[in-house]
Parts: sequence; structure tokens; C-alpha cells
Amino acid sequence: MCGVIGIISTQDVVKDIHTALFGILHRGQDASGIMTFDGERIHLKKGPGMASDLYTKQDILDLKGKIGIGHTRYPTIGDTPLDDIQPFCVNIPYTIGMCHNGNIANYYDLRKGLKQKFDRHMTSGCDVEVILHLFANELVQDMKQKKLKEEQEIIFDAAKKTMERLNGAYSTVGLIGGKGLIAFRDQYGLRPLVFGKREDGYAFCSESSVLEMLGYKEIRDVQPGEVIFIDMGYNVHSMIVLKSTPAHCMFEWVYFSRPDSTIQGRSVYDARLDLGRELAKVWIRKEKEVDVVIPVPDTSRTAALSFAQSIGKPYSEGLLKNRYIHRTFIMMTQEDRDKAMRLKITPIRSEVEGKRIAMVDDSLVRGTVSKRIIKMLREAGAKEVHLLLTCPEIKFPCYYGIDMQSRKELIAAHKDNNEITAEVGADSVTYITHDGLMKAIEKPLCMACLTGQYPTDINIKTIEELERKRIEDHELIAKNK
Ligand code: 5GP
Ligand code: SF4
Repeated sequence: MCGVIGIISTQDVVKDIHTALFGILHRGQDASGIMTFDGERIHLKKGPGMASDLYTKQDILDLKGKIGIGHTRYPTIGDTPLDDIQPFCVNIPYTIGMCHNGNIANYYDLRKGLKQKFDRHMTSGCDVEVILHLFANELVQDMKQKKLKEEQEIIFDAAKKTMERLNGAYSTVGLIGGKGLIAFRDQYGLRPLVFGKREDGYAFCSESSVLEMLGYKEIRDVQPGEVIFIDMGYNVHSMIVLKSTPAHCMFEWVYFSRPDSTIQGRSVYDARLDLGRELAKVWIRKEKEVDVVIPVPDTSRTAALSFAQSIGKPYSEGLLKNRYIHRTFIMMTQEDRDKAMRLKITPIRSEVEGKRIAMVDDSLVRGTVSKRIIKMLREAGAKEVHLLLTCPEIKFPCYYGIDMQSRKELIAAHKDNNEITAEVGADSVTYITHDGLMKAIEKPLCMACLTGQYPTDINIKTIEELERKRIEDHELIAKNK
């Protein structure tokens, strides 16, 4: 998962981009980058680490220009992390910079094709570089043909032809030097991308609440399959170039997005409240008793609140989170995750001791986080710990930008409920149902990691091939650490 921001304005854009990166920091803490264009040249600063630590005052002064893009990165692909940091840039036929949130499942084939057919060589293992080269290539072809006259016609045509070749999720923003700002989103709308207007210009971002915070109005989603291009005269051109049945990633509501954001008109906070209510319906059928409901901070607080109300039990913040430890899931190795977990969450003994606890969390992926927290709760004197999850059993990998790489690592892919309960050390494990999830989110969803039914062209052969490649990539990263 990643976060993107793109701004075109009558003023310099770097300060707003920098501020926005703080608002999308939860979407990627591995690396960050800002690219601007000042009418003459590109300015670029990118590097590893949190966006909040990366940029110096001098960088902000140097990143001049009234058009720019920014990125926070959480790696899901690639074997050379430093080289993979976004944004990327090419200079033919124009100076074009690009970054994205998502993941391209046919990345390896596309990269091979670009090399063999067009002699285009990549500098990284990052899939947005492939998108960028495809787009630049299509622009070159369109310009040669000279059939399309208007600049925006050429740009739409190149974007459409690029998008037709991509199998996956891509919420993309790009700057085209001297021409304008472009954004496009896959036809399923897998990852969020919103568009807003302010007196001085326009912006795109992964989180609607960040655009609101920056004072943008008339915020709307970039529609699935839509390309929006804003030229240097601040004229907005938009077109839906690909159509399909939408399949928005359910995880954005369950876990990833900010609770103050809205995706496709559905508030993330409201959806989480409903997830808690739907989960309560499953729990009530089990006829078990608990004394208190405790969320695993922070994401599941909202769902735990409505869950507690629905089952008529007190809500308690019995687990404390140290905010200064990064999201453990995003860390690349299990060892890193384990170390961080010990510092990150601690139980409050007085809230826990002698109690039967309903511990609400958003999801169980590998099971290691829950296992550790349950152990801590028991050490703090909990009498029983029942684990409740607002996401159903995750059994398949994600090829669209969430770091769930192979079936091997997914606890629910190879264990039944009794085995999972024993593995995490809980008294019981209860999942929300697929129906409950769909009802709570109220939108057409991608649920491929639950069902194995991928909205794009992915079959068992692709799964096996990609699993192998991804495991190789991860092993290489761990080895190089
Ligand atoms: P695991 O079961 O893999 O040990 O950890 C799952 C926990 O990691 C969940 O509680 C969830 O809050 C957190 N998490 C952080 N990032 C992600 C992510 O990208 N996907 C999922 N499913 N969970 C994540
Ligand atoms: Fe989201 Fe799962 Fe679909 Fe990936 S496979 S996009 S995590 S719903």
C-alpha cells in the first residue's frame, strides 16, 4: 500500500505536498519522494525512511514549481528497495514524473516486453516505472501518427492504451513538464484516489480527509477507469476510458484508510461502526459471555465501540499503543515485526486482570500480532481472551497492493478455526461473515483474498508463478538487510 498526492497550482506546491505526506504517512513508512517541475527543470528528492524525517528545510526551498507529485511507500514488489523509491521520471517525449498506489500483476511480462520490443530498460523493480514507460511509449507512437490533434486527445489516448495493458490496481498521479498534471485509476477502482479544487488549483490524493485538511472543496473520487488531465491553463479534462464492474478493496475500509476519509461516498468511520455491529451479530449467536470489550489500537477502536454497544458490554481501552513505533505489518521481516510489537502495545493491568475479554481486531493475517497480544493479556491476568475480527478469513494473496504475498504466510489458508484458536492462544476466534462485510461497506467490493475470485485476470497458474517470484524478492530483501 502507498499514498499519493499530486498538485497543480498558481503558487509553489511543495509545502502542501509535504504537509499532505504527513497525512498519508500511515499508508507507507518505508520511503518517500517529492518531484516538482518549475517550468525549466525537474526537482526531485526521494529516499528511504518516514516522510516526516526525510526532507530538510533546504529540500523544501529547492523543490520549486507550481506542479508536483509526492509519494509514501510501502513495498509490495521489487528486489532493490532503494532503487524502487517513487516518483520516477522519463524525458522522452516530454519530461514525465509518475507515482502510484497499487500493484501490477503482469508487471514481469510488461517489463520483458518493453525491453524486447522497445529497448526500454528499467532502473528499478518498481511497477510504476513500467506504467511510466508504457505511457511515454504510447505518447511517442501517438505523436508519430499525428492523427490526434489536441494535446489532451493524445494524452487520453496514451493513458487508455497504457491502462488496457495493465492487469492490477493503479491509482496513479503524474506530472507532464510544461503540459500539466494527470491522474488515472484502474477500471475496478481498487485503490482510492480523490480529486479536489481550491482557488489556486487542483489536487489528487489517496485520502479525502487530507484534501479537506488542505482546504480543497468539491472533493470527488476519480472514477474507476477515469483519466483526469489538468493543463497549464488550469482547464480540467476528464474521460472514463475503461469500464468494468467496480471492485473496491474491502481492506481500505477495514484497515487501511483514515477513518476521517470517505471512499466512493462511504465514510470509513461509518463503515467501521457497521463492521462492529455485523460482527456482534455473529458473536451473539455463539452465546458466550465476556466482561469487557477491548480494541487492538488503533484501527479497530471504532468497530469495537459499536460492537460493545451491540452486545451491551463495557468498552475499555485496555491496550495502550506507543505511537512512535511504526506500523508493524509494514516492516519487511518477521524479526523486525516481533521486536517492534513488544514495544508497541502494552496491556493496562487494572482493565484486564480477572476479566473475560472480547478483543476486537481488524484482521488476522499471519497471526503473529494477535498471538503476542493475547499472551500479554494473559500475563496481565486476563481470565479469558476471545478474538473478534472485522475481516473474514484471509486465504489468498493480494496482487493489488496489500502486502499479503503468498498463501504460505496466511494463517487461515491452511488452518481451520480450532487450529487458529490454538495457534494464537485464544479461547475462541470469531470472524465477521462475508455478507456482514458487504453489508457494512455498502459498495461493490474486491474480496479476492477471501474467496480467490480476482476481479482481474488472475488464475491459479499466475498465483503460483507470482508467489514464487515474490518469495524470491522478499528473501533477497531480508538477505540484503
Ligand atoms: P498478523 O496477523 O499478520 O500478525 O497481523 C495482522 C495485524 O496487522 C492486524 O491487526 C492489522 O491491524 C495489522 N496490519 C497492518 N498492516 C496490514 C495490512 O496491510 N494488511 C493487514 N491485513 N493487516 C495489517
Ligand atoms: Fe483488497 Fe484483498 Fe482485493 Fe487485495 S485481494 S485488493 S487486499 S480485497
